[in-house]
Amino acid sequence: MKLVDPKKTIEVIQSRDFSFRKRFGQNFLIDARVLEKIMDSARLTRDDYVLEIGPGIGTLTEALAERAGRVTAVEIDEALIPILQENLKEYENVDIINNDILKLDIRQLAEEKNGGRPIKVVANLPYYITTPIIMELLESRVPMISATVMVQKEVAERMMAGPGTKDYGALSLAVQYYARPVYAATVPPNCFIPRPNVASAVITLECHETPPVKVRSERLMFDLIHAAFEQRRKTLVNAINGSGKLSYTKEQAAEAISRCGFDPMIRGEALSLQQFAALSDAMQS
Ligand code: SAM
Repeated sequence: MKLVDPKKTIEVIQSRDFSFRKRFGQNFLIDARVLEKIMDSARLTRDDYVLEIGPGIGTLTEALAERAGRVTAVEIDEALIPILQENLKEYENVDIINNDILKLDIRQLAEEKNGGRPIKVVANLPYYITTPIIMELLESRVPMISATVMVQKEVAERMMAGPGTKDYGALSLAVQYYARPVYAATVPPNCFIPRPNVASAVITLECHETPPVKVRSERLMFDLIHAAFEQRRKTLVNAINGSGKLSYTKEQAAEAISRCGFDPMIRGEALSLQQFAALSDAMQS
């Protein structure tokens, strides 16, 4: 019986006297169709090296080990390590690391384990740190083909969102600068033990080899994006002027906005990634 079978998951939990830790965002997958969907979306082959974040009792890990070349699974909860070792003992292509993913140098891990070749990330992410994990993967330039992740549905919607919508924000722009988000499935709470309070979604971020826009300073562009969405009801001029991170006067901001041909009263939420890149370049000249 596979670990994803609810009876098997319950048996593992009870026989090992495991208690769920809410603070680690532990919601274990118990739906085989969802597991299949994750595997299909990740399009794994034996050439793939996979990093799994938060393996739990090894439900995804088991499926990954059967399809990928090598899997490294990083789990923070030390109580799960002996359970993982027992459940995955048949698989020689799995390494288990007991650590906090946010404390690991993922670039270095990819270098050591996969010779710097691009990796795939597959994970049912702990929801309390979804955004920091995604941002770390994208911004630290971990060589990556794709990340197939289960996240809160609302977070998946933010990653997919375009200008002028309520979900559009700094996360949408950061994700879309580095990757193409592909929505794979909506997953209801009853697919997990224990049930989370919200619906979830599987999304694949297919990483761009080169970003879809050219910008002179990525740092400045993202500082502008953060300023725009920190105070999203303000006009862009006021948001830039009011930002602690940027040191432009209102006049300088207004002048750059006008040089880009944008409405002087425009709000950041109306700007596309291309337009933020253009504004960033205009602010520098
Ligand atoms: N992959 C399993 C599954 O699908 O059934 C478990 C998914 S559960 C949503 C999230 C897992 O991430 C838990 O096992 C939790 O202990 C682990 N986790 C939480 N915070 C973590 C961190 N900072 N680093 C590594 N793992 C973490």
